[in-house]
Amino acid sequence: MLRRLPIALLLFAALAFGCAHSGVAPAPAPVSGPEAAAAPPLIVVSFDGFRWDYLDLYPTPNLRRLAREGVHAERLLPSFPTKTFPNHYTLVTGLYPEHHGIVSNTMGDERFQALFSLSIREEVGAGRWWEGEPIWVTAERQGRIATVFFWPGSEAEIQGIRPTFWMPYDPEADDVERLEQALSWLDRPEGERPDLILIYFDEPDGAGHRSGPLSDETREQVVRVDGLAARLRAGLEARGLFDAVDLLVVSDHGMAEVAPERTIVLEEYLDLDEVRVLDPSTMALLWPAPGQLDATLAALSGAHPHLHVARREEMPERLHYRAHPRIAPLVAWADPGWLIYTTHAERERRQQSVTRGNHGYDPAAPEMHAILIGHGPSFRRDFTLPAVENVDLYELLCALLGLEPAPNDGDLARVAPLLTPEAAARAASRGDRAP
Ligand code: AMP
Ligand code: ZN
Ligand code: ZN
Repeated sequence: MLRRLPIALLLFAALAFGCAHSGVAPAPAPVSGPEAAAAPPLIVVSFDGFRWDYLDLYPTPNLRRLAREGVHAERLLPSFPTKTFPNHYTLVTGLYPEHHGIVSNTMGDERFQALFSLSIREEVGAGRWWEGEPIWVTAERQGRIATVFFWPGSEAEIQGIRPTFWMPYDPEADDVERLEQALSWLDRPEGERPDLILIYFDEPDGAGHRSGPLSDETREQVVRVDGLAARLRAGLEARGLFDAVDLLVVSDHGMAEVAPERTIVLEEYLDLDEVRVLDPSTMALLWPAPGQLDATLAALSGAHPHLHVARREEMPERLHYRAHPRIAPLVAWADPGWLIYTTHAERERRQQSVTRGNHGYDPAAPEMHAILIGHGPSFRRDFTLPAVENVDLYELLCALLGLEPAPNDGDLARVAPLLTPEAAARAASRGDRAP
């Protein structure tokens, strides 16, 4: 059993580990010129699995107030597969999963013969899986200080760089403590204060899985995380920073209702000796044995009215899910509300713990859509865009921080309308002013 550690101790452990680790590149000295001093800190908060319409379905006065006083996308459109790790990493890299390499929560890489999953701690912290450049690496490279509380990827050294402050993921860490710890970094003297803070909360995703998106438990968790937004605001106000800080609240995906009778069991159609199935859930990665690809594809094509299957290179273009070698030669995905199991035995076992919600489906499904709210001096007031793609967030973060972005799949022009004319003009000329 993992003992629950106070967050300060965890942070200490992370720092101590970081110091002892000879491969950690020293953080570049903070920029101390007028440019850096003028830039307000940027805070990005993620509420895992916060579906776009929870804002209206449930009492969320604090998030709605932020949106009203700032900007809001009615829907943040996730990337395929609409799971936690691929989408959190898309949000901070501006890359589709086919370009950043986190192609699912569970995946394999034939090149280094290894398996990645959320529960294999050494692999989650191994930089070889995390391709592209997350915003904290972009920031640190360009002389800024980044603090990351639990964002997927933040435990790995990526391109030889880590955020100045980070800590190993602890799902038991108290949310209020997380928030207070993040706020306390703002009390550091100029030159030590983070320019960028990212904070991850694992609700309301947990409640959505356990009880479904339309449930009392999910309502309770949504109300609770809305309270965290109020607490964040109060903490910033107490420091006289609320109007100086640019704040973004996002989520990675939504949640769809699932039911025990809506299941697809692959062993009914496949000889499982001839195909390896990875991450069966709302989608699955299929690795057929040599010479078995065509037969596997034929066996699954049209096998079930709610199951789709395609060769990697024939995946629908709009899903942007072809390029990476970690994407299996065959990809199967279910219609929203349906779940894929490998065997009946697995179905029975997994259904012991009742689940009423899941995600990972086609990003076009409205149930998968997420949230985006922005507030602060760089954002317009009371302005709403109908939809923003989550690949565009990285460009927006770079614009807010005055950073030169790494190559990515996003487009600043699509999110620039969220910015004040002054902030948009600054972003347009950032190439000249990046430190
Ligand atoms: P999903 O399976 O897509 O619903 O993933 C959500 C789960 O990811 C949550 O239950 C979190 O506890 C877990 N999670 C989030 N960040 C991390 C991390 N850095 N390491 C391991 N698990 C994580
Ligand atoms: Zn998630
Ligand atoms: Zn989830």
